[in-house]
Amino acid sequence: MEKCKICSQETKLIFKRQVLRKFLVSYFQCENCGFTQTEKPFWLSESYDESMNLGDVGQMVRCISNLIKVKNLLRYNFNSAGVYLDFAGGYGMFTRAMRDFGFNFFWDDLYTPNLIAKGFEKGDKLRFEAVTVFECFEHFENPIDEIHKLLKYSDTIIFTTGLITEPAPKEWWYYGFDHGQHISLFTKNSLEYLAKKLGCSFYSRFGIHILSNRKLSPVRFWYSMFLSKIELKIIGMVNKNSLTSQDHFKLVEEKK
Ligand SMILES: [Zn+2]
Repeated sequence: MEKCKICSQETKLIFKRQVLRKFLVSYFQCENCGFTQTEKPFWLSESYDESMNLGDVGQMVRCISNLIKVKNLLRYNFNSAGVYLDFAGGYGMFTRAMRDFGFNFFWDDLYTPNLIAKGFEKGDKLRFEAVTVFECFEHFENPIDEIHKLLKYSDTIIFTTGLITEPAPKEWWYYGFDHGQHISLFTKNSLEYLAKKLGCSFYSRFGIHILSNRKLSPVRFWYSMFLSKIELKIIGMVNKNSLTSQDHFKLVEEKK
């Protein structure tokens, strides 16, 4: 049985599923921290034919939602005049939008072209006030190594990743069986364990997770997320008429 990549304890096989419609893949959940991992991912070269997976219609809604949350987070908890990095920043949407809000953000992505934040590539800058890492942790084959690399850029990693429950659900769109890119799924417990192992603090609220060597004020963090909730409601982002998930399933069906 595979050992947990986060806490090195025993895992148990939770199911086998077909990934990319052809590979039968085993999924394991840690009995100690709940972290869920696939068997060694041998299919990734096929998963990443396109770095942005085709069924991912959530790019725009995530960008707007992250924009509101992170600008409030930075305004009330960090140095607003600092230099920031959006790691794996995709087409550059988030970097551009944060710059439009007055935050000195830079872009980096090894796999996706920078379309709309041109001129603001990371270049040889080494340290940042914080690094944002959206929807990446679930792609990491070796999460601890990747997180160590991220901590070289900054004391603070602000990130999003869908949290899995214990026991793991049998069905969840976030497993992404159609593209096979989601190979590491965290529980809140596993992130807390990870933080302890790295000597960091861990904060999580309203879908935003933070690993940081700094101590944040819980009240200020709560306030910045509370404010974000209100702002998102005002601009209609908490919207029951959203077509996002229905569009996602349409594209996934068409790929079959
Ligand atoms: Zn574990």
